[in-house]
Amino acid sequence: MSLPQYDYVIIGAGPAGMAAAVEARQHGLNVLVLDEQPAVGGQIYRNIEDLEEQRPDEFQKLGADYQEAFELAQRFRASGAEYRPGRSIWQIDPDLTLYHIGQDGGPSETCHAQRILIATGAMERPMPFPGWTLPGVLACTAADVLYKSSGLLPRGEIVLLGSGPLLLLIACRLLDAGVKIAAYLDTNPHLAPFQALPYLPKALRGHEYLRKGIAMLWQMFTSGAKVHLGVTGLEADGEGHLQKVRFQQGSAPWKELPADLLLLHHGVVPNIQITRQLGCEHTWYEKQRYWEPVLDQWGNTSIENVAVAGDSGRVCGSANSVLTGRLAALETARALGKIDLAQQTALAAPLLKKQDQELAIRPFLDTLFPPRHPWLVPKNEETLVCRCEEVRVREIRDAVRLGALSPDRVKPMVRCGMGPCQARMCGLTVSEIIADERQVSPADVGYFRVRSPIKPVTLGQLTGVE
Ligand SMILES: Cc1cc2nc3c(=O)[nH]c(=O)nc-3n(C[C@H](O)[C@H](O)[C@H](O)COP(=O)(O)OP(=O)(O)OC[C@H]3O[C@@H](n4cnc5c(N)ncnc54)[C@H](O)[C@@H]3O)c2cc1C
Repeated sequence: MSLPQYDYVIIGAGPAGMAAAVEARQHGLNVLVLDEQPAVGGQIYRNIEDLEEQRPDEFQKLGADYQEAFELAQRFRASGAEYRPGRSIWQIDPDLTLYHIGQDGGPSETCHAQRILIATGAMERPMPFPGWTLPGVLACTAADVLYKSSGLLPRGEIVLLGSGPLLLLIACRLLDAGVKIAAYLDTNPHLAPFQALPYLPKALRGHEYLRKGIAMLWQMFTSGAKVHLGVTGLEADGEGHLQKVRFQQGSAPWKELPADLLLLHHGVVPNIQITRQLGCEHTWYEKQRYWEPVLDQWGNTSIENVAVAGDSGRVCGSANSVLTGRLAALETARALGKIDLAQQTALAAPLLKKQDQELAIRPFLDTLFPPRHPWLVPKNEETLVCRCEEVRVREIRDAVRLGALSPDRVKPMVRCGMGPCQARMCGLTVSEIIADERQVSPADVGYFRVRSPIKPVTLGQLTGVE
C-alpha cells in the first residue's frame, strides 16, 4: 500500500508549527501538521480557541499576546494545511517516513515527507530532591495547564519554589485568578543579577519584557506571600501526600512550612527526543545546561531535509518560535522549488531583523537565571532520579565508580532511562550526576542514545489490531 505523501510534515502545532504551516501554505506546499494535543496552541497557548470562545473574561486577562496567538490559530485553520490533533510521533526513519499513533489507542499510521519540521517545543527541567515524587508536588506549569485547559485552580497552602520568568509568570497568573500563595521560595543565586549586568544594555532593546518582569516581581513581593530568597535545599514530606516542606537558605538552619501543593520550576529545556532518535548532531549549551540540536539560521539540522523551529531548537520564547517557524518554512519553499534564493532572502530579511530584536534580551535572561548546582545534582544520595525504574543518585554514582562513564553505560547497569518516558524525565540529571562524579562537564559525558519508540506504543497499535 502506498504511503500518504506530503511536501512538508510539521510536528507540533504550537506557535512555531502553526506559523511554519501558514507560511508554507502561502508558497503552495502540501502540508501535514501532527500534534499530540487535542487542540492547537502548543504549551503556552494551550486550548486557546476554547478559551476565547467559552471563557472570554479569562482570555482577556491573559493579555495581548493571546489575542495575537488566537489570530495565528485562525490563520492556521484557514491555511489549508491538513491538521491531525491527538497524534504522537513515535518514530521517524532516515528516509523521512513518520510513524504516529492516536491518543485514543487506535492503530499506528505512517506517512512520508520530503521535508520535516520538528517544532515540539520545550519541557520543564526535572528538579529531583527528597520527596519530589509525593502526590501534591508538581511542576508549576501543571497548574497552568489545568487552569488553561479546564479553568481549575488550586486551593490550600500553596508553596512555589524555583527560579525563572515562567515561575513568576505562573505565580502572577494564579494571583490574578484569586489564588492565595502561602510562600515563594526563590532558588536563584544571589550573585546572578550582578553577573547578568553586562548584558543589561543590550537587553534594554527588549524593554517591554523587562517592564513585564519588574511588574511581576512587584506583584509577587506585595501579594502577601512569604518570599524567601537564596534557597539552597529542599525536602518535601507527608503521609501518602504532601503535608510540609523543609527548606534551607545557605548554611542557615532548616525551616519548615505546611504545604498542600508544591509547584516547582527550574527553567525549561528543549524537547530533543525526535532529533536524538533521528541522530541529528547536538551540542551542550553551557549557560542553561542543556543539549540542543546544531542548527543554521534556517533551522536546518545536520540531517538533510530535517529542520527544527521554536523552543525545541533553543528556548527563546513564543515570539521567536513564530519567527523561526516562518524562516524554516521559507527554506523548505526554496528547497522544494516554490521560491528562488532571491525571494527567500527578501522574505526572510524582515523576519531576521525582528529576530535580532527579539533575542536581544536572551543573554541577560540566560545569565540572570542560571541552572544551579544543588538542583541539578541532588546532594542527598537517596534521591530518586529515574521515576520509571526507581533509580537513585547513589546507584548512578556507584555505576560510575565501577567504570560506567556515560549514560549509555550506566543504563544497562541500573536501568535508568529504560522506562516508558525514555529518559525524558531523568536524562539531563543522569548526565549531570555522571559528570559530577567524574569531575568533567556533561558535554564530555554525553546523553542517552534515544531509540524508537520515543512514545509508549502497544503491540496492538503496532499490528493495527485493537
Ligand atoms: C508546560 C509549559 C508551559 C509553558 N507556558 C508558558 C506560558 O504560559 N507563557 C510563556 O511565555 N511561555 C510558556 N512556556 C514556554 C513556551 O512554551 C514556549 O516559549 C513556546 O510555546 C514555544 O513554542 P513552540 O511552538 O516551540 O513549542 P510548543 O508551544 O511547546 O508546541 C510544541 C507542540 O509539539 C507537540 N509535540 C511534542 N512532542 C510531540 C510528538 N512526539 N508528537 C506529536 N506532537 C508532539 C506538543 O503537543 C506541543 O503542542 C511553557 C513551556 C512549557 C514546557
